[in-house]
Amino acid sequence: MRAVSNVKHWLLMVPVLLLMIFFSGCEMGKKKPEEGTLRVITSIMPLSYFVERIGGKHVAVSVMVPPGGNPHSYEPTPQQMVQMGEAKLFVKAGSGVEFELDWMSRMMSLNGDLQVCNASEGVVLQPIKRRATVHQAQHYHTPFDPHFWLTPLNGVRITRNVERALIAADPVNAAAYKANAAMLVAELEALDGEIRSTFAGVTKKRFLVFHPAWGYYASEYGLEQIAVEEEGKTLTPAQMQRVIQQAAAHRISIIFVAPQSSDSQTTTIAQEIGAHIGYVDPLAYDYQTNLRNATRAFVESMQ
Ligand SMILES: [Zn+2]
Repeated sequence: MRAVSNVKHWLLMVPVLLLMIFFSGCEMGKKKPEEGTLRVITSIMPLSYFVERIGGKHVAVSVMVPPGGNPHSYEPTPQQMVQMGEAKLFVKAGSGVEFELDWMSRMMSLNGDLQVCNASEGVVLQPIKRRATVHQAQHYHTPFDPHFWLTPLNGVRITRNVERALIAADPVNAAAYKANAAMLVAELEALDGEIRSTFAGVTKKRFLVFHPAWGYYASEYGLEQIAVEEEGKTLTPAQMQRVIQQAAAHRISIIFVAPQSSDSQTTTIAQEIGAHIGYVDPLAYDYQTNLRNATRAFVESMQ
């Protein structure tokens, strides 16, 4: 009798053990990849969107800078470093995001076979716009604005770069990658047309953001981005006063912040110029919906 109940006891334990194994798998960052799927790591969320759209069921993607993380200061966890050792392909922005500059070589040293896709290959990177005095330049890692991914046409370039990298890493599924990429390119070109026509009727083409993430977007659609913060730097009171004057002069009614970089300065400036705070996210996963939402928010702020 006693032996039987012990067996029962152990049988009951099996599902519990399976759950424990399952959840420890989840803790590694993502669902356990199935055998045969290509393990891909991206540095930021929008790049994961591209890999998942183009790779479909053939890829298992995890991201280094998690939702809410700041790619200008993020440091990977030890678990992520382990994942790095198991991945086949790493997709980086390649545009001077600090996280990549600080960590790429250490990550690469963990996995000598890791293939790297530079998502910004072929993109003409824009210099950071500064109000700047000369001596400030030395504080920056890079003279370029890293946020190239925020236009659909650069999204097309990302698509082509990711497509090529997936085919190189997993040639067996090349046909699927090509078909998915072609579909995504068509969607992105349509989205570009949509945004272009949205701004066509707008006369006051100026918006105020806290973090200067929308420079590529602004130049693509003939807009002017006024930014509170310079890339990675907090403003001095004098600089802040200048931004407040500029915003008041242009009768700006909304100041946009990213969910991951809001700051007490935002509230101060909003109060000083009598503006509301709005949200636009440079790092959302759902790339196309996010650009549509941002476009709607910018247009509303220009009314
Ligand atoms: Zn940024």
